[in-house]
Amino acid sequence: MSAGSGSSGASPFPEAATLELVGVSKRYPGQREPAIEDLSLSVAAGEVCVLVGPSGSGKTTAMRLINRMIALSDGDILLGGRSVLGREPNELRREIGYVIQQIGLFPHHTVSENIATVPRMLGWEKSRIAARVRELLDLIGMNADEVGPRYPGQLSGGQRQRVGVARALAADPPLMLMDEPFGAIDPITRARLQDEFLRLQAQVGKTVVFVTHDIDEAIKMGDKIAILRQGGRLAQYAAPADLLTNPADEFVAEFVGADRALKRLGLSTLADVELTAAGGPMPGQGTIELAATVRDALSKVLASGGAPLTVLDEQGGAAGIVTLELLGSLLGDGELGDRAASDRKAGGEMLGDRAAGNGTTKAAGSAEQAA
Ligand code: ADP
Ligand code: MG
Repeated sequence: MSAGSGSSGASPFPEAATLELVGVSKRYPGQREPAIEDLSLSVAAGEVCVLVGPSGSGKTTAMRLINRMIALSDGDILLGGRSVLGREPNELRREIGYVIQQIGLFPHHTVSENIATVPRMLGWEKSRIAARVRELLDLIGMNADEVGPRYPGQLSGGQRQRVGVARALAADPPLMLMDEPFGAIDPITRARLQDEFLRLQAQVGKTVVFVTHDIDEAIKMGDKIAILRQGGRLAQYAAPADLLTNPADEFVAEFVGADRALKRLGLSTLADVELTAAGGPMPGQGTIELAATVRDALSKVLASGGAPLTVLDEQGGAAGIVTLELLGSLLGDGELGDRAASDRKAGGEMLGDRAAGNGTTKAAGSAEQAA
């Protein structure tokens, strides 16, 4: 897997794998209530499944069960159709990239040595390891010559998390487990890390289980979201747009928040909507990029006292105009989020690509209102 090409090949685990939890339960010794009870869900190969729920709802427990750091009380877990129970735990863990909040980089190893950990255990040739480390640092946007020889203590928190992601990806595992990976990072760096991971995932197409307690992060990162309640019981398992449109019960509705109509606008970009035609950028009119979410557009229009914005395409030309009326009509349009979600599933493309690729092919859902 080289960045985007998949050509450097000789990786031991080249495929993303399906993951199935079948009737999984976990009771810790001495605890009256189970931490997880009868949890079943399956994650398609190459999909990001976000586990979200309040503290203590069993998210971390679920991750540890998958890589066999702890033992199941009941049920089974299948990776690539094969029960993890029949696997040698150390071997299994080499096939599962694991990223946690306090990343646990080895402090006395350089960044390069940290990233090389699993390839070294797998006995890769030195030259192949060096090439892989370079490729991964490149993939996470870091300069290999500059950052590779540093020690973790010489990096910022955000940089350490990125190195943690690179280390987990090193042997190209078919499954990534990410337990609140960006939880301890400041909001701006965190948003950048999220964007970067989505871009990375569009290239590597791993099966990912991503844990968070933050519903906004779940909506942003997930192809599917599993909402857990206390006792590790599954409240709902659905695509973000479904969850926001049709919460299964009061618990889910409360968890996703009263602003779920607004959140749904965050799932679509301006490239997904039929804009009012524009002759060219209007002097004095505010601008926004085509790749911005509809929710961002609403915030910006409201901040400018309701004045329309010129939408700029990637070349800086005017793609159209977004007005408060148009945005208002989208708030009530349940199809918008569904459409964006199905685009994402079909194309596996990230926001920027979508803006460039099919911005002109969207159904003309709201053209009349906009005119
Ligand atoms: P989350 O990651 O969703 O916050 P956890 O999976 O860490 O939740 O914990 C789920 C429940 O299991 C909690 O009630 C927690 O106290 C309990 N628990 C977690 N680890 C252990 C352990 N090693 N021994 C006993 N109870 C545990
Ligand atoms: Mg946890």
